[in-house]
Amino acid sequence: MISFGPVPSRRLGKSLGINNIIRPKVCSYSCIYCQVGKTRQPGLTRQSFFMPEQILREVEEHLKKLKTEDRPDYLTFVSNGEPTLDIHLGKSIEMLKRLGIPIAVITNSSMLSDLHVRGELMQADWVSVKVDAADADTWQKVNCPAEGLKFETLMKGLKLFADEYGGELRTETLLCKGINDSQENLRGVAKIISTLVLVTCATSILSKSHNEQRNLNEIVIWANCTRNLKRICDTARG
Ligand code: SF4
Repeated sequence: MISFGPVPSRRLGKSLGINNIIRPKVCSYSCIYCQVGKTRQPGLTRQSFFMPEQILREVEEHLKKLKTEDRPDYLTFVSNGEPTLDIHLGKSIEMLKRLGIPIAVITNSSMLSDLHVRGELMQADWVSVKVDAADADTWQKVNCPAEGLKFETLMKGLKLFADEYGGELRTETLLCKGINDSQENLRGVAKIISTLVLVTCATSILSKSHNEQRNLNEIVIWANCTRNLKRICDTARG
């Protein structure tokens, strides 16, 4: 199933999800908190999963079955993995825009140094980027990136995209107890975020890790877009 929902989203209202990545998962990260489970082999190669025509057809059929009051506020690329690893993402966004519903993409930011990826995301109305860590070591621990990806490249890509993007840019930070919730990391993340976005909002959810060995029994999932360092630290520390 390519499309699902609509599901209520705190950030997007009614969101019709689009999974443009084949199951079980294809991702450039293997985050320790990932709800889909470990990534077998995190990679950075873009691939063909579904053709844009198929995605459009399925979404159109899905929308036809919905009651008027269930019409989504957004069509959201939220995948079993990283949506920008889909080589047809740009074409799919372009075709879906014909439906007259704003397009959102939730990305882990790992591919933003790629000029083509940035160009494709420019077409989306709303983009959320992931910023979990302020340094390479913490990033390795929490996001377990694909071999060959460098933290400096990630940061450069993020900044380039934020500078070029004309839509609504949000950030998402997921905090894992004892891994990336130190004051130092929070301050660093806040500093990075403050250079990317203008809107202020913060929220938190509790979840569980798929990685039993790390014995993480509590994970704070914290979505935010803020310039306010004190608020970030206070929210994370409870
Ligand atoms: S980026 Fe998303 S899909 Fe990929 S491992 Fe992390 S949480 Fe899972």
